[in-house]
Amino acid sequence: MRPCPALAHLMAPLSLQLAPLWFMLLADPAQRAQQNKRKHLMRKSTLALALASLLAAPAFSATAQDSSSHYDLQAQRDKIVPVQMSANTSFLTAEEKQVVNKLIKAARLMSDIYLRQVNEQNPQIRAAIAQSGAANKALLLNMFDEHFGPWDSLAAGHPFFGDKANAPGSGFYPQDITKDEFNAWLAKHPKDKAAFTSLYTVIRRDGDKLVAIPYSQYYQEWLEPAAKLLEEAAAITSNPSLKHFLTLRAKAFRTDDYFQSEIAWMDLKDTPIEVAIGPYETYTDGLFGYKTAFEAFVTIKDPKASAKLDRFKKYLKDMEANLPVADSYKNFKRGFESPIAVADQIQGGGDNVPGVQTIAFNLPNDERVREAKGAKKVLLNNVMAAKFERIMKPMAAHILVPEQAKLLDQKYFGYETLFHELSHSLGPGSIVKNGKATTVAAELQELYSGTEEGKADVMGAYNILFLMKKGELPLAEKNNLLATYAAGLFRSMRFGVHEAHGIGAAFQYSYFVDKGALNREKSGLYRIDFAKLEQAITDLVHDVVVLQGDGDYAKAKAFLAKYGHVDDGVRAVNASLGEVPVDIQPIYPSSI
Ligand SMILES: [Zn+2]
Repeated sequence: MRPCPALAHLMAPLSLQLAPLWFMLLADPAQRAQQNKRKHLMRKSTLALALASLLAAPAFSATAQDSSSHYDLQAQRDKIVPVQMSANTSFLTAEEKQVVNKLIKAARLMSDIYLRQVNEQNPQIRAAIAQSGAANKALLLNMFDEHFGPWDSLAAGHPFFGDKANAPGSGFYPQDITKDEFNAWLAKHPKDKAAFTSLYTVIRRDGDKLVAIPYSQYYQEWLEPAAKLLEEAAAITSNPSLKHFLTLRAKAFRTDDYFQSEIAWMDLKDTPIEVAIGPYETYTDGLFGYKTAFEAFVTIKDPKASAKLDRFKKYLKDMEANLPVADSYKNFKRGFESPIAVADQIQGGGDNVPGVQTIAFNLPNDERVREAKGAKKVLLNNVMAAKFERIMKPMAAHILVPEQAKLLDQKYFGYETLFHELSHSLGPGSIVKNGKATTVAAELQELYSGTEEGKADVMGAYNILFLMKKGELPLAEKNNLLATYAAGLFRSMRFGVHEAHGIGAAFQYSYFVDKGALNREKSGLYRIDFAKLEQAITDLVHDVVVLQGDGDYAKAKAFLAKYGHVDDGVRAVNASLGEVPVDIQPIYPSSI
């Protein structure tokens, strides 16, 4: 999901308050883009964990309140509401079900690895909680399992057992290592660079030396049985593309070479089984962002819904042409080949299990594969639906006047996710400034990700309106789209404007208030002026695209200074949202 953080958009805001510190740690735009996504951010802003003292009995505090007077363990637990997940698997054949059940088992092994990638001592810490005499032991264990460790991922990694923050490098490096020590080692041992910065090694101490150990060795205890399960599934399936992928991925678990299996993943076809399993994202490595975390999405593709959405990508060129700017700002050079799938998740594993849930993923991250094959966007329909029901809908009553709150439509929550993502590939990217070839990202620097995320949001809405006018989507539902989109901005602003998605939402909101499109009434609720909002969406797309296309840092700075903040109206809405959960904890069946 790295190069395009967009799909995170609709869930990332849930954890925005956790991002700022971590965000500042990131050096280059690619890493910044990575972090825009979502959830594990919180772990990264943490300081070194001195495990020895954590494990020393007196250091264990039985209640989280000991370490912060403001932290309420039960209230934190209540922010995430458990939801029994269902998925339609009735159309699967007996063979397909057998394959899926193997994959579910393999997915769970990714969680065993990831628990240790978060912190190698996690199993011992959990055992210490279980053996402790804490009065709230059950709650502590529940929280531990929810967050994959004793650090609350919805509270900036706040430790709720013991008082030590997790190490920024999580379990990928020695707990006490610093960036300086790591870099000094590489300066002295330049030959180690490839192995040390590899996506697929852990760094450990060996006496006074540092060593890099390949994942295939270090996590063999779980990777070998996972590889066997994938091979068993490969033996069962009669779909050649799935057989090919599973066989190659099993091999990769033993060799750390994922390239061929990523290509094979892009080539999956004629099977409803859409599975991603392996080491993918680097968000958990808050030290350098080098190391990948294991995870798995076992999903069942909805062929009809996928075909329906996949057809939208053929309009990408038309969307580019339809941008409300001079042709010189339009960009027809990009490839538009990425497949889109709509699926129901039936099991998660590893990195995507704790904390805030992913509603869509965009893989692989390997640039070589992306150049050769593009990337696949998979929208997780049942997760999206659960979030809409449990979070977005109840929020609407706190945001919009009742007759407009009821216009919210789950379908447009989903479309806005998809078109946000598609809109990242529209508009200026590579530009020419003062006769020199450059990029928008390079020119706008730290202002880039905020403007880009806001651009993708508003351009997403603009493009959905465009498809409505073309007759591809029902024009009669225009106000449903606009209400869903406007309420979504509040969700993005819920946790502050310290991070790209929050800044992006804030400038859209402020712009619309400025144009009279969003009007706060005496009740504190907002009334949308639909005609004005539609016009303001067009105007804002124009303004942001021009801002980006000019690569004008000073103008972008002035624009964000004017619009990139929230006001009392937003703060009042946020204050009223106490009862609305922050996220869901999906409970998946152990077999189908
Ligand atoms: Zn985005």
